[in-house]
Amino acid sequence: MGGKSAKLLSTAFGYESVEDLIRHYPRKYAKRGELTDLKSLKIGEHATVLAEIASVKEVPMKGKRTTRLEVVVTDGRRTIDLAFFAMASMHKKRLVPGIQGLFAGKVQEYKGRKQLIHPEYILTAQQGEETDPDVIEMFAKALIPVYPASANVPSWRTSKAIKFVLDQLEIKPEDDVVPEALQDELDLISFKNAINWIHEPETLDQVSKALERLKFDEAFVLQTVLMQRKAKDSLLPATARKATKDGILSKFDANLPFELTQGQIEIGELLFKEINQTHPMHRLLQGDVGSGKTIVALRAMLAAVDAGGQTALLAPTEVLAGQHFRTIKKLLGDLAIKGELGGNQDGTKVDLLTGSITGQNRNNVLASIKNGDAGIVVGTHALIQEGVVFKDLALVVVDEQHRFGVEQRAALAQKSPGDQRPHVLVMTATPIPRTVAMTVFGDLDICSLEELPKGRSPITTHVVYSLEKPAHLERAWQRAVEEVKKGHQVYIVCPRIGGEVGEEDTNINSEDEKRPPLAVLEVAPMLSGGPLRDLRVGVLHGRMSSEEKDDIMRRFNLGPNSKDGLDVLVSTTVIEVGVDVPNATMMIILDADRFGVSQLHQLRGRIGRGNNPGLCIFVTESPEDSLARDRLNAVAATTNGFELSQLDLEIRREGNVLGSRQSGRKSSLKLLQVVKDIEIVEKARDACKKLIEQDLTLNNAPALQKAVMEIEKEAETEFLEKN
Ligand code: ADP
Ligand code: MG
Repeated sequence: MGGKSAKLLSTAFGYESVEDLIRHYPRKYAKRGELTDLKSLKIGEHATVLAEIASVKEVPMKGKRTTRLEVVVTDGRRTIDLAFFAMASMHKKRLVPGIQGLFAGKVQEYKGRKQLIHPEYILTAQQGEETDPDVIEMFAKALIPVYPASANVPSWRTSKAIKFVLDQLEIKPEDDVVPEALQDELDLISFKNAINWIHEPETLDQVSKALERLKFDEAFVLQTVLMQRKAKDSLLPATARKATKDGILSKFDANLPFELTQGQIEIGELLFKEINQTHPMHRLLQGDVGSGKTIVALRAMLAAVDAGGQTALLAPTEVLAGQHFRTIKKLLGDLAIKGELGGNQDGTKVDLLTGSITGQNRNNVLASIKNGDAGIVVGTHALIQEGVVFKDLALVVVDEQHRFGVEQRAALAQKSPGDQRPHVLVMTATPIPRTVAMTVFGDLDICSLEELPKGRSPITTHVVYSLEKPAHLERAWQRAVEEVKKGHQVYIVCPRIGGEVGEEDTNINSEDEKRPPLAVLEVAPMLSGGPLRDLRVGVLHGRMSSEEKDDIMRRFNLGPNSKDGLDVLVSTTVIEVGVDVPNATMMIILDADRFGVSQLHQLRGRIGRGNNPGLCIFVTESPEDSLARDRLNAVAATTNGFELSQLDLEIRREGNVLGSRQSGRKSSLKLLQVVKDIEIVEKARDACKKLIEQDLTLNNAPALQKAVMEIEKEAETEFLEKN
């Protein structure tokens, strides 16, 4: 392809190869109405017109904050109006006067003029250019592929480039990632057909067959990557850690202030068994917020310590690491301070290592990790990535992590002497449907804590529409005061920190013109000068130093009954995962519509942890009948994490599931939706399992082998770049 076209595609989409380009799939297919000239348009008829944009006007909508776009197009003699009521600014950027396009829709009449409302359109020529006859010819087909466009590359240009490439490209059977025999067995069309049909279909049936095949490919390659990783992992050596009878674990169990749930006991047994094997455990423990995963992990860690090894607990944030450290020390009591005054000689040493622990403190901790004194080390993920040396690392627990990727694997490989690998337990509170689990965690063994500990109090959630019912918001503040009077703490969550000019608002969609989301630094003084003036209000957000954060969390934990305590915490989502203050009973989430479904669920999981019922209030200004409002009501209606995660995944696509980058990469899913395409994922998984069992290195499926290698290489590069 010529340098100019190639460059355009490369800058707009990052495409570098023919393969990248042919995997640029149509967003949808426009069905052609007859190509009509403006003269013969009839009201009520579906029509497509070739016309030039004459004028574009953005008009405010009466009584609303949005605008509509009025566009006039012309064939040189006559004109027709186009109207857009949604995404006006997006269309305005594309529909520039002088540009030609094909516009399709139902002809309507408004104030005596013919009009297309929200027409489908493809722009076909730049200003001053005539539409290419080739494009009009492509348009003569029954189904016109409409490609994801960018400012400089309209859909028709992509069409032309793809046609050019497909006309010359020869896709051979040996380039197909699905071996021919398997295609027959699974009743799939060839990759060659699929590519031709997705780009140049004659019928919708061809489109759906092509889609099925290409989705299958995505699932199939991904499953192969994961299963191959898993199979290779299971061949690695590890030290078996056998728990002793009268060790720290049994002393700890004897002193537990509550009874373990059945699930906690069973998974505990499973973990004891698996760390006592000579291959590394790689297990995911999922359990809804509050299901008590920490205890399960801690018991496995104690077993490993009893067996003479060391353990590490990794948290995603310093706040969480600090909290785990305090919780574990509290739970273990004198068993956690071996070597110190009052320490139990049968116990172990629990250490905290985060970025903010520096100087002599840090050296002491590093030394006790290296000489093996520290049986339990709590820290952030950096703990395994930095050059921290363990004497004998037996078990790594990764809390609140959604992935266990190449990165972590590579880091662990350096942690143990020789070829030995530590056992690994990954924990997540984001309950996910089975197919998603297979897709995202296909390389881990999965188990779940299904029940919550007894005596858990229910959480009630209300949605407050603060614009229509300001009195309800007033009432919510009063309730907060009452909760504190009863001796409980209250969280108030805002989407933004505030206080800085030019601060990046990641939660804001530039398409809409809403006011900026409420900010911690603005809300906190407003509350302490207003409805919460009699309470002690603290502030927590990601820009504070770890010491400051730790101190605030410690004081919030103390609560209303302590002289040094805090009653109310105004914070960002830094409290989203894992924070555990059982005495906090109420949470008010401001601008709740700015948060995602699982975020809301995670946030809400911070209350109702103790014996008192929890109350959660979502405050929103979102208009009636809006999606945002529906979403909040859906979250308010259930506390079932599985239901919610299903809802969440339906709302947003999964994107790249193996790496952390968002797009354009080999491992990203373009077509497959893991929630909706359950059957395809399962089919791919079964096929892949058979294949891997017979041929781990994939020597008999060279195209698949190559695809897998490319993904692994990409993952590795990403890892190296980050380090
Ligand atoms: P999560 O699974 O969300 O990480 P945690 O491990 O933080 O949950 O546990 C939540 C709270 O429940 C903690 O305060 C913990 O001490 C308590 N807990 C855990 N297991 C039990 C149990 N079996 N009975 C009563 N309380 C428990
Ligand atoms: Mg937790």
